[in-house]
Amino acid sequence: MRSPVEFSHRTRTRALETLDREPFDLLVIGGGITGAGIARDAALRGMRVLLTERRDFAVGTSSRSSKLIHGGVRYLQQGDVGLVMEAANERRVLRRLVPYLARPIQMLVPAQRRSGYAKLSAGLWTFDRMARVSHDERNQMLDREETLRLEPLLRADNIYGAAVYYECLTDDARLVLENLKSAVAFGATAVNYAPVERLVIEGGKVVGAVVRDVLGERAIEARASVAVNAAGPWVDEVRLLQGGGEKPRLHLTKGIHLIVPRERLPVVRSVVMTARDKRPVFAVPRGDTVYLGTTDTNYDGQYDDPAITREDVQYLLDAANDTFDVAPLGFDDVVGAWAGLRPLLHQDGKKPEEISRKDEIMVGPAGLISIAGGKLTTYRRMAERVVDMAAERAARLDGKRPHRRGESDSELLCGGATDEDLAAFIARLRTKWPEADADIVERLVGTYGSNGSRIVEGMMADPALGERAVPDLALTRGEVAYAVHDEMAMTLEDVLERRTRLFLWDVHNGLTAAPRVADWMAQLLGWSPDRRRAELAAYEDHVRDVKGFLGDAEPEELRALRA
Ligand code: FAD
Repeated sequence: MRSPVEFSHRTRTRALETLDREPFDLLVIGGGITGAGIARDAALRGMRVLLTERRDFAVGTSSRSSKLIHGGVRYLQQGDVGLVMEAANERRVLRRLVPYLARPIQMLVPAQRRSGYAKLSAGLWTFDRMARVSHDERNQMLDREETLRLEPLLRADNIYGAAVYYECLTDDARLVLENLKSAVAFGATAVNYAPVERLVIEGGKVVGAVVRDVLGERAIEARASVAVNAAGPWVDEVRLLQGGGEKPRLHLTKGIHLIVPRERLPVVRSVVMTARDKRPVFAVPRGDTVYLGTTDTNYDGQYDDPAITREDVQYLLDAANDTFDVAPLGFDDVVGAWAGLRPLLHQDGKKPEEISRKDEIMVGPAGLISIAGGKLTTYRRMAERVVDMAAERAARLDGKRPHRRGESDSELLCGGATDEDLAAFIARLRTKWPEADADIVERLVGTYGSNGSRIVEGMMADPALGERAVPDLALTRGEVAYAVHDEMAMTLEDVLERRTRLFLWDVHNGLTAAPRVADWMAQLLGWSPDRRRAELAAYEDHVRDVKGFLGDAEPEELRALRA
């Protein structure tokens, strides 16, 4: 693993000022997991890479997934053996490269009848062997009593038994950021708030793009031997920039998740529930919260921040209320939510849940390489396939073979130097710095992996960095400084939603911490009092919009802040 390098507003400004000076080998359009994985793979191969993202990194689908690195059980149900093997292998690789972002968790699947139980048992038996699951993580079949002992919250009336199998829990936006930081450590350039507005086409071929610096209000032409379109739901929009009669290929489906306080749904482990239309949906505990998801419905609305309807919410609440013996969950219990769009490839006559999740690479008339479909789980293999093609093309054009700097399946990701045992890593830090608060050390390692130790070290050297945003949260000034200096956070939303993730896992969505975080960001980024106020207002509006399905009422925390 290379030592991290500065990745901040300053490096962003410098990069944008020099974009038009030297041509790149590869231009990557889109800073979700697909683009970030491609940038890292290409940088490891020694290519000169530029990645541009129109808003913030991971703002699209890659911060809105179910946050699971699938072993591939679900693809076995669809009979896709190739995808099972690929997903299972990728899960093993990710656990090695970045243990804090691929933590094994048990999933409990209740069965209501003997026939369902037998089917589950046979399927998981096959999966364990096919995916070469290690002995200690093989599935277990439980009878009714064992099931209810493991998960007492289940409704007992219609349980025959259950299966327990392992998945890995990740944090999608953090996985994007760690890939990007790794790419940057190997020489890539990455900028956010910089949409590609136009492709530069000469002699019928893409030779670059016009990139707009949204924050600096200027347009810059960047040149590259090869361009890759990894724009997720916007893949068609970018493909059509080539002209030449390209036709749309995507089929977008929307998936939402809800967050409820753990005290309202105190599940012990993740549970696979069956929704009213027989689709499997999850309840996944995470800190003080549990998230429920997901839906899968055709979508034709706006791509940015897709709206959540009351019907979406009711569907998931019904699934939880049918599965667990708790006081019925209602709209008022929902403290947070997110909605994302699956950029799938259209297949005639298929329902949303039947459309294949496989990725496809499309080469357009002007040579633009586009990639769509796929999963967070298999992003590294998707990246390898795209870069194989791009590197070959770049070498043909300029006759050079760059010097490889590392292998994508063995070079640790940024934050990946913790070993699998995170608790032991945390314990070592606590012995080294006994004066550091336990909750802060845990939070930093849980959110930044091995880089958490750098933030603790900084706080030990400068106690001002240990200041908390609010007394009851472990969010410190040092963490916010890290988001700004090391992860190119440019707005309050960037910090609270995609760097620290308070937007999701804090029951107040980060609203109580927001004013203090805005103060710190104002100092770090030189914001005027007006800009600070505007950032705070924009974040409050954002939280209110996401929770809009609750009606017009303002969340209580917002009212308190305004008072
Ligand atoms: P995105 O993350 O959307 O990235 C594309 C980026 O391109 C965006 O940030 C966008 O702003 C940018 N962009 C667009 N146009 C331009 C432009 N002109 N210039 C510059 N940038 C541009 N997969 C799993 O493996 N496990 C799961 O548990 C899982 N759960 C899911 C649950 C849901 C509800 C959904 C919707 C998906 C789930 N997935 C899961 C799938 C996975 O999340 C996606 O496959 C993946 O995130 C897609 O990433 P992407 O980079 O292709 O797209």
